[in-house]
Amino acid sequence: MKFQAHVSEIVRRSEHIKSFRFRKPEDFDYKAGQYIVVTLDVNGESVSKPFSLSSSPTEKDHLEFTKKLTGHEYSDALDSMKKGDTFNISGPYGKMSYEGEYEKIALLSGGIGITPMRSICKYCSDMALDTDVVLICSDRSEEDMVFWKELSEMTRVNPHLKVFQTLTRASESWTGARDRISETLVRRELPDFASREFYVCGPPAMVDSMMEMLHSLGVTVLKIRKESLIGY
Ligand SMILES: Cc1cc2nc3c(=O)[nH]c(=O)nc-3n(C[C@H](O)[C@H](O)[C@H](O)COP(=O)(O)OP(=O)(O)OC[C@H]3O[C@@H](n4cnc5c(N)ncnc54)[C@H](O)[C@@H]3O)c2cc1C
Repeated sequence: MKFQAHVSEIVRRSEHIKSFRFRKPEDFDYKAGQYIVVTLDVNGESVSKPFSLSSSPTEKDHLEFTKKLTGHEYSDALDSMKKGDTFNISGPYGKMSYEGEYEKIALLSGGIGITPMRSICKYCSDMALDTDVVLICSDRSEEDMVFWKELSEMTRVNPHLKVFQTLTRASESWTGARDRISETLVRRELPDFASREFYVCGPPAMVDSMMEMLHSLGVTVLKIRKESLIGY
């Protein structure tokens, strides 16, 4: 489906991360974890980039995607957008989605790869699914934990959701984990990993290393869905 969207709300998540919301057309159906392609005018040229929907299908009124601002041309054009401005949307796309098909899932996110995971966690929580969900997020620093508060609130209403955060370059005051997602961390936080379906999303290097790590744990590719946040 293709349509023109008017920005209805911009949510600043951190200094370098913004969410863009717009009204969901009635006939736009998507699954938690899927992505859209956003086309905008960048210095007189039409440029398209893919973004996971950070909103959940249970949020009926709006669609939302969340962009890490990079200071590059497309990013700056998006960053300068105001309420009421327009862009073109196509989608939904992608197979890294969840609709309740598995009993136990593990979500591994790196950086802005949290966006489809937020969608899946919100979907499971709003639908009151009894899916056992463990989300493991790896970020650089506290500034990147943009959905942390919301995810923590979800764990309060959803007893089947567990969220674990690790930071590789945290401030001194951080008392949580500082290790990268590794075999050791997965064995510790997900002792039942062999019985879970995996979802992996993050920058290409992170996704590649997660694939290697899961392979060495004996998790077959058939049990892994992944989205590499590679640009085009
Ligand atoms: C399925 C999918 C879902 C995605 N979901 C999201 C999402 O939810 N949020 C999100 O933020 N992104 C997401 N992405 C990535 C997104 O599409 C963009 O590629 C990304 O945001 C970077 O776009 P950009 O225009 O800001 O940077 P680009 O200009 O495309 O730069 C990307 C990278 O290339 C390098 N680079 C490019 N040009 C230069 C330059 N002139 N100088 C130095 N380095 C340069 C840098 O390493 C930079 O970080 C997704 C990608 C895919 C495939």
